[in-house]
Amino acid sequence: MSKITIYVNDHELQVDPNQTIFEAAKKEGIFIPTFCHDERLEPEASCRVCVVEIEGQQKLQTSCSTKVRDGMRVQTESPRVQKARNEVIELMWASHPNDCVVCDANEDCKLQDYMYLYDITSDNKYDGHQRQFNIDDTNKFFYIDPDKCILCGKCVRVCSELQGVEALGLNIRGYQTYVSFAYDLGMEFSNCVSCGNCVSVCPTGALMEKSKTKFRMHETKKTLTTCVYCGVGCQFNIVSKNDKIVKIEPVNAVPNEGMLCVKGKFAYKFVNHPDRVTSPLIKKNGIFVEASWKEAYDLIVSKMNYHLETNGKHSIVGLASAKCTNEENYLFQKFIRKHVGTNNVDHCARLCHASTVSGLATTLGSGAMTNSIAEVKNNDVIFVTGSNTTETHPVIGSFMKQAKKRGAKIIVAEPRKIDLAEHADIFIRIKPGTNVALFNAMMKVIYDEGLHKEEYIKEYTENFDAFIKVIKAFDIEEGAKICGCDVEDIKAAARMYANSSNAGIYYAMGITQHSNGTNHVKSIANLALMTGNVGKENAGINPLRGQNNVQGACDMGGLPNNYPGYQKVYDKEVQKKFEKAWNTTLDDNVGLSLPHMINGAYNKTIKMMYVMGENPIVSDPDINHVKEAFGRLDFLVVQDLFITETAEFADVILPAASFAEKDGTFTNTERRVQRVRKAIEPVGNSKADGLIIQELMQYFDPDYTIKNASELMDEIAELTPIYHGVDYERIEQLGLQWPVNDKNHKGTKFLYEGGFEKLGKGKFTPVTYKGAAELPDDTYPLTLTTGRTLYHYHTITLTGKNEEIMEIIPVNFIEVHPVTAKKYKLTELESVIVSSRRGETKAEVHITEKIGEDVIFMPFHFADGANMLTNTVLDETCNIPELKVCAVEISKQ
Ligand code: SF4
Ligand code: SF4
Ligand code: SF4
Repeated sequence: MSKITIYVNDHELQVDPNQTIFEAAKKEGIFIPTFCHDERLEPEASCRVCVVEIEGQQKLQTSCSTKVRDGMRVQTESPRVQKARNEVIELMWASHPNDCVVCDANEDCKLQDYMYLYDITSDNKYDGHQRQFNIDDTNKFFYIDPDKCILCGKCVRVCSELQGVEALGLNIRGYQTYVSFAYDLGMEFSNCVSCGNCVSVCPTGALMEKSKTKFRMHETKKTLTTCVYCGVGCQFNIVSKNDKIVKIEPVNAVPNEGMLCVKGKFAYKFVNHPDRVTSPLIKKNGIFVEASWKEAYDLIVSKMNYHLETNGKHSIVGLASAKCTNEENYLFQKFIRKHVGTNNVDHCARLCHASTVSGLATTLGSGAMTNSIAEVKNNDVIFVTGSNTTETHPVIGSFMKQAKKRGAKIIVAEPRKIDLAEHADIFIRIKPGTNVALFNAMMKVIYDEGLHKEEYIKEYTENFDAFIKVIKAFDIEEGAKICGCDVEDIKAAARMYANSSNAGIYYAMGITQHSNGTNHVKSIANLALMTGNVGKENAGINPLRGQNNVQGACDMGGLPNNYPGYQKVYDKEVQKKFEKAWNTTLDDNVGLSLPHMINGAYNKTIKMMYVMGENPIVSDPDINHVKEAFGRLDFLVVQDLFITETAEFADVILPAASFAEKDGTFTNTERRVQRVRKAIEPVGNSKADGLIIQELMQYFDPDYTIKNASELMDEIAELTPIYHGVDYERIEQLGLQWPVNDKNHKGTKFLYEGGFEKLGKGKFTPVTYKGAAELPDDTYPLTLTTGRTLYHYHTITLTGKNEEIMEIIPVNFIEVHPVTAKKYKLTELESVIVSSRRGETKAEVHITEKIGEDVIFMPFHFADGANMLTNTVLDETCNIPELKVCAVEISKQ
């Protein structure tokens, strides 16, 4: 694009056309003040503080809404401009309390900054403001002080246009206007999801976090890092004072573009929580006693040596962690493989996306999200199934709503009428576990109506004939009956999806956590391949990975069959490569997967377990069985921040440092390797997980030299083809999306451009519908389905240490349809017993039409939650348990 010439304050500038004066000046480092500008929003020029003088124009113009022109001459600080600007700011101050000294926003406020910059004193001609409004502190995390609102409208627009919620509005009372929650404007209840994105953009103290720690910005330091909760991998600054986190500020960069959710923004209190384990603990006579690191290491190593000699290397197992960094997971699997000598290493990906890895690796070549998070906004059609995206991956959910505002269509196929269903063009309520029947019916419609992409199928895929035979034989009416939905809805969804050239599928554990989970995933691959929606931008198959680094823990070989980079343990060449690099001999047998480790402990063939940052006693199915198994272990090591339910069973607890206390990388759901940076010193006597593992390695190899995180990444890159081009210098700014084949490779925005390199062709797989292993019957007549909530994360080890979050969701609950509630004579918020063949638990009743009749939903967060009831039956290909569906009964207490 050719540049044009403009003159700003008499300096000649060559700038891009099609931008505003404000944007051009900013790029050139020329300051223009603004309150309302946000580069993610269309300019509204509401604050008028950005006015500039343009030669030849009588009136001053707002620079944020005026485009540059060739030859344009602009003055940004002329006397006329300054006078106008001062008027605007003085008027703002006229309706503003003179509170700076005691204001929480002091030192972080644009109004204060601009008053200082333009020499405006608080006793200007408009002064004399009396406080008009009460502070609204109904939200748990932030308050609204309407008197400090300058009406820039940014918070209202961010909430509506970017977050897609519309919880805020401008309230007009007499001559006064101010920002308020929409319920103040007549809405029945607040739909605010406490994302805090309004707080982050407020230029004054009108929207402020209810901080428990007093601080001024000059006392703090900022550290850019990656969120520790979900797989979106949001970038933010940790603001800390004296080794304590005082606030989180989002960063406007990929992947989150300045957005966060309630967990990333506000649920950081766990880091400095008084319950942190701050010293190694050894259990003596059933009681944990503080010990030195040496005592703890000595005991662990002596137990390891004992079991290696007495019961053999395969009697020891290790759980890597989807919450720890790539470098730590790499070290952990290396430790188990090299120093124990077994491939018995797995982690909780077994419970969430094992079927994605097995289903997509065999059909496409790689078990990861094919496309990028930013592309969500450019999809024409967004097909969400098996994912409650706005609660589990909230920033991606917001991007979906942004896409909808730009004209995209949304299809949602779910057992629950999730938030996104309210924004959907087609919502199909399906019975839990019936997705394959839905997909097959959709594919039958697509085939019958000739909507499949024949050229694409011929050029890029194989096995279409065998696959289509199954589809041709499938009856659409029968599919609708199995799913419990309308045939016409299936047809409409099929047409909408197939007629789009930019359709993306987004799924999560509603697809994967089934005894036929691999087939669910393969069926999705069939649908995308049939319509040519793989291998191009703004489309694809997008498994949304749950935890912050579950993608990375898999990439790093925290799996019993894979070395880092999905290199097989039974591939002789690969084995030789790792033996040489690690200077050892390695086992070529596939190790035990997590459910088999638990069964091994139960059967007493597994004697010792080492758990790094996981909590299987809450996350795994059939908790009674898991507890019994852990109770039968001879020796258990748990490395964690808190004494979790699993740590209660430990013989040794090693205090681990949190994400804020260490360096490393996480790989997010779009395969982006991103930096994690140390913001504060490890709390108490805790240590980074990676340091702990390396200190243990030194017991087995006294010559081992401890490496820092960057050096570890160099070792990983050397041995892992998809990470070959990754190093800390290259990922400093925006991270890199694997595969990154070499140091010149720019990373991969979307996979399979030009074909399926690894497999040769995309593979169609004939998939027939098979229901869940346990269906309702006379004894257990209801179907239980499980999932997550917006506010809690996983087994609440971290979110549970934030009192505001515990106030919002304090106890286990069930969602019940009004008809089911009537049948069981249930009342709102009463406590009932829910039981299955495996156990029972208490739950608070929430009556809602969000869930279908005779189906109940329960979150899996709580220790006495859904996994007291869930089924341990496994998918035979990948060993994922059927956590999503089982049969239950409700009884009164
Ligand atoms: S919002 Fe800003 S200008 Fe207003 S009292 Fe607070 S610091 Fe001062
Ligand atoms: S916290 Fe989020 S949802 Fe609530 S008002 Fe602010 S932007 Fe809207
Ligand atoms: S939990 Fe996920 S969506 Fe929320 S801030 Fe963290 S990474 Fe972003």
